[in-house]
Amino acid sequence: MKLSFHGAARSVTGSCHLLECAGRRILVDCGMIQGGRDLEEENVADFGFDPGSIDWVVLTHAHLDHCGRLPLLVKRGFRGEIIATAATRDLARLVLLDAAHVQEEDARRQQRHERRRGHNGCTEPLFDMFDVFDVIDRFGRSAAYGSPIALAPGLHLHFFDAGHILGSASVLIEAREAGRRRRLLFSGDIGNSGRPLLGSPEVPDSADVVVMESTYGDRCHRPFAASVEEFLGAITETFARGGNVIIPTFALERAQEILFVLREGIEQSRLPPSLNVFLDSPLAIAATEIFRRHLASCGPVVGELLTHGQDPFGFAGLRFTREAADSIAINRVSGGAVIMAGSGMCTGGRVRHHLRHNLWRKEASVVFVGFAAQGTLARQIIDGAREVELLGEPISVSARIYTINGFSAHADQRELIAWHQRVEGARTTFLVHGEETAMCALAPHFTRGQVEMPRLHESFAL
Ligand SMILES: [Zn+2]
Repeated sequence: MKLSFHGAARSVTGSCHLLECAGRRILVDCGMIQGGRDLEEENVADFGFDPGSIDWVVLTHAHLDHCGRLPLLVKRGFRGEIIATAATRDLARLVLLDAAHVQEEDARRQQRHERRRGHNGCTEPLFDMFDVFDVIDRFGRSAAYGSPIALAPGLHLHFFDAGHILGSASVLIEAREAGRRRRLLFSGDIGNSGRPLLGSPEVPDSADVVVMESTYGDRCHRPFAASVEEFLGAITETFARGGNVIIPTFALERAQEILFVLREGIEQSRLPPSLNVFLDSPLAIAATEIFRRHLASCGPVVGELLTHGQDPFGFAGLRFTREAADSIAINRVSGGAVIMAGSGMCTGGRVRHHLRHNLWRKEASVVFVGFAAQGTLARQIIDGAREVELLGEPISVSARIYTINGFSAHADQRELIAWHQRVEGARTTFLVHGEETAMCALAPHFTRGQVEMPRLHESFAL
């Protein structure tokens, strides 16, 4: 039995782990490498294995850094079955189609630049819409939490709710080879317990080998309840000044969680009943529709609302703006509205237009509720830039800037340690999906078994 690591090895993106057992090959995740052009160019590199030899891909969840190289895998010969929860399948379809669109746009822009420099402009996108359709065709059985799936004699999958995003799972692979049995647990990304929208992370009783994410292995988040308070306070203060609240929004999960918190705020009379909210992101709107189709996969709080016939994401003043004309019409609103628009790091999308109309107003606010990577417009604003360039125009930053950290979809150090402690019998834990500093801070807290931090393409005999 052999386990090898072909992504997210001492880094945070590009998850891709290969298990070889009794002549069968299972790939757990096939994610995109993200974080700036240089790093993203690594996506075209060789996988480190033959895609045509893979029998199954097990997908833990639909974030791009876990599913984004699937179109390349299929292009390069993968003809096996992709297994995921039904919600992950629906979200992955959306995420991959959006990524193909971004890839095609980027390639076109790059071609224009090349031509202007006198080159022939032949940059190709990493993949296109048709490649994504080929991936969709490869989705086979849907996994359900708690129901095992038989792959072959002596080879079984068990999905556990990871509490990270809708449909997310930690996956236990039970494998038998030459009379030896192994239980391997792949954490996927681990969420937080006690969040309103999702269930708390579940684990099997035991596993011999654990492959575990460590994104926030070196830090603790602000408690969720305190972050909600801060968030509602930011809206109230801004409205008192007569401004708009702009929320650069990640389409998946964060957008729905913010809608949920706004609805609760209205219900608890913390926010006005007629609160004007625009969800100005076609991608977030589509993701919200997928949430509505899979509400049974959400946490107990959502279940409770449903039994009382309540819509977890709906309230009177909420408007979904799909059309560009409706989005442009929001520009006429100079105060008293919450405007949620993508992208979350302000690297593109409709939020840039809303920032152009609001960032220079001292009565307005921009509320950041997610991660902002170095080099992004969001990072510049958070770091206190007095002026930024937006759509080719210098715009002064006079709005109030809030950075609210407690909405993270990832477990922090304390929760990662607690998650690991619940898994009995782990002889070896492989830390993945984290920077080295985060892994080194987390590893000493694991008192049972040995801890490994694999390097890219490194293999281990089990
Ligand atoms: Zn994730």
